[in-house]
Amino acid sequence: MALTEAGDDVTGGDGPRVLIVAVDGLDWGRLDRLIAEGRVPTIGRLRDEGASGLLRSIYPFRSPSVWTSIATGKTEEQHGVHDFLAPGREDRVVVPTSSNMRRVKAFWQILSENDRSVGVISWLVTWPAETVSGYMVSWNLLRLLTHDGRSDIDDDMVQRLAQAVYPPSVLEEIGEVATTTFRGLASADPASSDLGSCLGTAAFLDDPEVESLITGLARNYAGDVATLDMVRRLSSAHEVDVTAVYFRGLDLNCHTYWRFMEPESYQAGVSPEALETFAPVIECYYAKIDSIVGEVLKLWDDDTVVVLCSDHGFAGHRGYAGFEGDVAMGTDMHREDGVIIFSGPGIAVNGRIDGASVLDVTPTLLALVGLPVARDMEGRVLTQAFDPSLLAERPIRQIDTYETGDGWTEQDPIPSPVDEEIIETLRSLGYIK
Ligand SMILES: [Zn+2]
Repeated sequence: MALTEAGDDVTGGDGPRVLIVAVDGLDWGRLDRLIAEGRVPTIGRLRDEGASGLLRSIYPFRSPSVWTSIATGKTEEQHGVHDFLAPGREDRVVVPTSSNMRRVKAFWQILSENDRSVGVISWLVTWPAETVSGYMVSWNLLRLLTHDGRSDIDDDMVQRLAQAVYPPSVLEEIGEVATTTFRGLASADPASSDLGSCLGTAAFLDDPEVESLITGLARNYAGDVATLDMVRRLSSAHEVDVTAVYFRGLDLNCHTYWRFMEPESYQAGVSPEALETFAPVIECYYAKIDSIVGEVLKLWDDDTVVVLCSDHGFAGHRGYAGFEGDVAMGTDMHREDGVIIFSGPGIAVNGRIDGASVLDVTPTLLALVGLPVARDMEGRVLTQAFDPSLLAERPIRQIDTYETGDGWTEQDPIPSPVDEEIIETLRSLGYIK
């Protein structure tokens, strides 16, 4: 199928394979220093061998909205995804925003409708999973798999699990490995796990405050490593043109552990044991994410264009827009400048990208895979990232729109069995009261 203006042939992919690694909350401030210290060698290499810059987010920096702008090239007003939670129209019951509420096409639909295949893993606002040419894993699949009530799975739960993946066979490919990895790491003793090096020595004392914070860190890490396991399985079972994988652990950890790294910004009391234990967590987790990104990259060859991006930067202290009071909480900890790096064939070596916005990611992706950019997208193609030879070989083309106009009507969010848990997590992060 081809969506064209007269004379445009957009069928048949001759573009490179593309791997999008999405890391929530990744920030250049910390990254640049850790690269200089040699603690994040994979991201450092991507930066040095590719083109990079700040990626401007959209206020008020709510991750579901921003990741949807990244995936569509469109603003919140256009795509209609505002926040983690959405009220139903009739009953007003608030549940996590679901994929049917997005009013415009995401890149996975545009690619699927234009002879490109795509794999999407854990991207925000992807419940229920959408039908694509390739596969999709919803962001809440891991929670569904490791839901505490899962030991007595009923028919409803089985049906709900099937809604979290596309096609349904994906569940057999990744369900068990993701569950086993998550459970193993979430309950691991920090003294013997890879997280031991992220914690101060007081982690090994008997202290209830410290223990509950360690459990949270272990769960966040378990989520990212289980996601890596899914990528391993899915990338070996499916060949697709574009793969996108989302990691959430860094942002979750920044929300919870930043106060131990910069205690002077916080008035809330922290015990000396907790301070000593968790002060190293954030920077150590940057190194963990770097090695997870490195493991993902090993699964693709050198002919792949890698796109590393974040939805916003991160700061634990005062002085940013929207900030109220002394202690930053929730989205007040997000800051405007995120990260964008492109690396691979056709990408400018050691290139600099100026003035990039989260709205530019999808138009640039379309140009990379040889599809026209839509004029109704707010973003633009980040041509600074491209080697001039790439633009000569694959000039940027445009069409008016990829929307078909009959795809979306006002819809209620679709509930899932883990909504209560998701809402509880949002509360603990300070996103909701
Ligand atoms: Zn956040």
